[in-house]
Amino acid sequence: MWKRSLAKEALYEPENLPNNLKCNHTSRAFQCSSLTMRDLLTFHNRFYSSHLKLKQDALIVKFTQALPVKRRRPKNNTHSMKSFQTKYFISSCEGLLIPVCQQSFLSTLNISRSRVQRVIENFMKTGTNPTENRGGDHKSSKYKDKKVAVID
Ligand SMILES: [Zn+2]
Repeated sequence: MWKRSLAKEALYEPENLPNNLKCNHTSRAFQCSSLTMRDLLTFHNRFYSSHLKLKQDALIVKFTQALPVKRRRPKNNTHSMKSFQTKYFISSCEGLLIPVCQQSFLSTLNISRSRVQRVIENFMKTGTNPTENRGGDHKSSKYKDKKVAVID
């Protein structure tokens, strides 16, 4: 049966249900206002349908898009990988991908910005979705930005 990792998994259970979005974005880039409470709850529940961190991380990768920001620094190229802009999406009940601002994405899923950053950085580094990467993840809490710079 299951390995006894319940204590660890419990960390990834939601603490609260999403609140209504605080912003009023109606622009083309951020369409937060077009999402209903039902959309938010559905997306939230989808994320927490699994308490496995890997599965949740895979969903983060799926609904974000990292675009490298070109900022040429001739002195040290090693830091170039750290600069990227992230786009966030929430899928509506109809299955439409709605671009939203960072705050909406994070508050709907009740996750921290640093977790998203970590997942995306890892994805960019390895090029694989977290579910495909079966390596041990026990060190991820000590993961630091430095690591990204080393593996260019
Ligand atoms: Zn917004």
